[in-house]
Order: sequence, then structure tokens, then C-alpha cells
Amino acid sequence: MLSEILEDEQLVRRPTTAFINLSRLKHNLRYIRSLVGPDRKIMAIVKANAYGHGLVPVARALLNYGADQLGVAFLEEGIALRRAGIHAPILVLGGLIGNQVRHFIEYNLQIAAASSFKIEQVDEVASEMGQKAEIHLKVDTGMERLGTHWDSTETLLAAAQRAKHTKVVGVFSHLAESEHSDHSFTKKQIERFQYVVDMCARWGFRSIHKHLANSGGVLYHPDAWFDMVRPGIALYGVPPCSGPSPLQPVLRLVSRIVYFKVVGEGSSVSYNRTWTASEDTRVVTVPVGYGDGYMRALSNTGQVCIRGRRYPVVGNVTMDALMVNLGPQGVGYNGDEVVLIGEDPASRVTIGVHEIAQWSGTIPYEVLTTINTRVPRVYLEEEEESSLSTLA
Ligand SMILES: *Cc1c(COP(=O)(O)O)cnc(C)c1O
Repeated sequence: MLSEILEDEQLVRRPTTAFINLSRLKHNLRYIRSLVGPDRKIMAIVKANAYGHGLVPVARALLNYGADQLGVAFLEEGIALRRAGIHAPILVLGGLIGNQVRHFIEYNLQIAAASSFKIEQVDEVASEMGQKAEIHLKVDTGMERLGTHWDSTETLLAAAQRAKHTKVVGVFSHLAESEHSDHSFTKKQIERFQYVVDMCARWGFRSIHKHLANSGGVLYHPDAWFDMVRPGIALYGVPPCSGPSPLQPVLRLVSRIVYFKVVGEGSSVSYNRTWTASEDTRVVTVPVGYGDGYMRALSNTGQVCIRGRRYPVVGNVTMDALMVNLGPQGVGYNGDEVVLIGEDPASRVTIGVHEIAQWSGTIPYEVLTTINTRVPRVYLEEEEESSLSTLA
């Protein structure tokens, strides 16, 4: 498998690496802990390969640093964590499909129960297996994705009360625009969820976990915290809104120059010839492309950092390489480090995830989760080591 080849330390592979700084991950979790206090539970969200940072190593680290439990989107992500020997509670946030229930129970994964029908389905399988399934009731307060509408919570509670092989361990909902500067819709969702929580208490479901807040909820809406929070992107050091933040970006994507040339005035660069040099200029090639998750939408809009200076990506990003214009006088040599995402340690110049999202017409979530498994992840404990030279 490619991942094994990438880990072969004897191999001189191409110099494109995602450095994952675990000290920063710890800092971000501690920051969230300092906000929500010691008594609330933190469900660390590690879906989509931990937002591109690597599922198992990040999950292990977060539990070490004090996360109370994990959340993933799909059954298979939960199974991967269990097979890696992780025993902490894991909620699978996504919907149940077909005959997945027995695998949830077998791997001791908590189920998001989105309807009374699903609860009955879960209870039946649990009963056949002679086991108890753990569920979190999923209520929809305005996202319109998964869950029973908040004003029909009774049907969910009635089903949960009838289900004898099912243990309700939580109730939750999801915020649709917690990062928005206009708080009115989020306030409405919080009120609806409070109604649901009160209803649960009236039905005798009191000591269950009540959770609503994603990262935006954690950072901008203390009244959305209830007794458990579900941060994702904030753990990785990227606030849902751009701007100054105490969070520290965890991921750096770096490569090296593999080719240097002078492109003559009037010559075009890359597929479809979308960029033409207006003067003789120095152009370098970097071995990373959209086949790694460096999006093609960054063609002629992206910037990278070389020797402490920003330079533009010129021409179309290809599957395996991109070209950078250093200008007629720019300085960059074969082997020089190229920072694609994150900070250049020497100069402190930072290519921010929010900037990249803006250049490519998307959101920071997609920038991070798109970095795929062809890029090896290297895990670091300390800031200083975060350079390709440690691999040389
Ligand atoms: C992805 C997800 C989260 C985490 O969202 P962030 O915005 O990354 O903090 C929390 N809850 C649910 C249900 C999710 O799907």
C-alpha cells in the first residue's frame, strides 16, 4: 500500500509533506477546555481523516490531551478507530444505512438515532444480539439534514421509552450558521434545543448528554454549550471566521523546488496556456498538484512562500506539479522549501487556510479535508522541528 511505502524511511520520496504539530493540537484543545470549563464534556470531531490531519494519530493525541470522547461521520471511521485499539466512547454522527446496526453494536459505537423508526430498528437488532445499543437522539432544530424535527421530539422519546435494548446516552442537534455575524438564527436553534432538553427531562431522560455546539458554537455562543461540545475545525487551529484568534494552525503543507528555469517573454505556462510571461522571468516547479488535494482552483490565484516571500502560482495547477513565478529577480533554487499551507518558520510569513479558501472559492474545511493520502503526514511534538530538513 502507498501508506507503507511513504513510511519507508530508506526511501527518498518526493519532498511533499504535511507536518502535523501535536503541540498545537494540544494547545487548541486546552484553549477550548479553558472556555467551556472542566465539567463539560468535549467530543472531539475527527471525521474525514481528522480534517485531513490523520484519523488515528490525531484521535489518540486528542484523547491523551483530555478529550472525553470522539465523534466521526461514518461507521467505517468508527471501526477504524476501534481496530486501532481506541476504547473511548465514539459517536457516529451520520445516518444509519441498511443493516449497519449489528456492526455498531459489535464495535461498541454510539448511534445517532434520527427517527422513531431507526430506534425501533436498532432495538430489534440489539435484542436479537442479546446486547444493549447506545444511542444519541438526533433532533433537527433548523439544519434540515438529519433528525426528527424539534417540535416532534415526543415521537422520538416515546420510541426510546419503548426500546428495552437501547440506552439513550445523549440528545443532540446541529447548528447551521454558528460562524455567522448575525446571531439570530443560531439563537432560534438554541431556544429550540432548550425546548427539546426540557422535554427530555419531563420524559425522565435527565442524566443524558445534551450537545449542540460545533466550533462556531464553542467560540461564539456560550449559551449553546449545554453539557457537551463538539468542536472540529477549531481543534485544528482554524477558527470558523477569519481574523485574529488564539487558536494555532496544526497543519503545514510543504514541498521543495524540483526545477528552475527562465521563461521567456511571450511563453505560456502549463495546460491550456492560461498564463503567459509578460517579460523574461524565473519560474520554478513544485511537485504537488490537485492529485494531492492542492486544488486546481488555485491556478493563477494561489500563493506560496519561498525564502520568506510570497509568490504567485502561475498557469494551471496540474495533477502532480505546479509552477510558481519568482519574477525576473526572484531568488529560489532547486531544493528550497516551498510553504503551501501554514507558516514559514524563519520569516513568520503565513499562507493561511482562510486565504487559500478565498483564492479557491471554498471554505477552510474543504482546503484541509481535500489533502489526500498521497501526501505523507509527519507528526511533530515541537514547533522547531517542523521543517523538511528533519527528514533529510
Ligand atoms: C462536523 C460536525 C461537527 C464539527 O463541526 P466544526 O464546525 O468543524 O466544529 C459537529 N457536529 C456535527 C454533527 C458535525 O457533523
